Amino acid sequence: MLEVSGLSVSYGRHRALDAVGLEVAQGEILVVLGANGAGKSTLLKALAGLVPAAPGAVVRLGGAAIAGAEAHRIVEAGLALVPEGRGIFGELTVRENLRLGAYPQRARAGEAGRLAEVLALFPRLGERLGQAVRTMSGGEQQMVAIGRALMSAPEILLLDEPSLGLSPLMCAELFRALQRVRAAGIGLLLVEQNARRSLAIADRGLLLENGRVVGGGPAAALADDPAVRRAYLGG
Ligand code: ATP
Repeated sequence: MLEVSGLSVSYGRHRALDAVGLEVAQGEILVVLGANGAGKSTLLKALAGLVPAAPGAVVRLGGAAIAGAEAHRIVEAGLALVPEGRGIFGELTVRENLRLGAYPQRARAGEAGRLAEVLALFPRLGERLGQAVRTMSGGEQQMVAIGRALMSAPEILLLDEPSLGLSPLMCAELFRALQRVRAAGIGLLLVEQNARRSLAIADRGLLLENGRVVGGGPAAALADDPAVRRAYLGG
């Protein structure tokens, strides 16, 4: 369980996140919706320890306090980020990228079993273990990025706009894969521009505006809410 409260981030004098609170349980998908610049990426980066949070933030993962910890310690605690733009190594093969994901101490012992699990979640990767990642399609590369994060044995996965730039077909495949990740008992905190598709697979949603949480609730209720439909679903 990831529990966050009072999470604020400033870039100089610009406050990008203001006292954000949320919870993600294992085996559920929470989607964060918000316009460009609402602070969605900043939220994920702050949780992953890539940008500093203002004093007073509480971030707990499985009961352990991780606010202010270094990024590698946060991965060791069980929180893994799939960044926007994927952050994979194009010159390396699928297998090499996945093996890099198992670098954290917590992931080393179970590496072989976890690789089998990742390949069961993403069968396409199993067919292409020796292929250089730069030669793969955008959707396949996104699966490598998610697979690599899963190799670190996370309790909670943070995903920054995974569907960005994907064809509708690839997007549908990606969202089905995310449902399989959830079914494996991992919690997903998903930031998405594609509100319609992400609400369709999420359990709950959170609305972020100018760095503040302005609403939230069960995904199905949000998808039916006229104000949410106007703001995020194009009417
Ligand atoms: P998008 O959907 O466009 O990626 P977002 O909701 O992810 O938007 P953030 O990238 O978190 O938004 O940015 C939130 C605010 O903080 C924006 O006003 C942005 O300009 C600002 N910001 C983000 N990163 C920095 C930075 N490194 N330095 C200064 N300001 C930043």
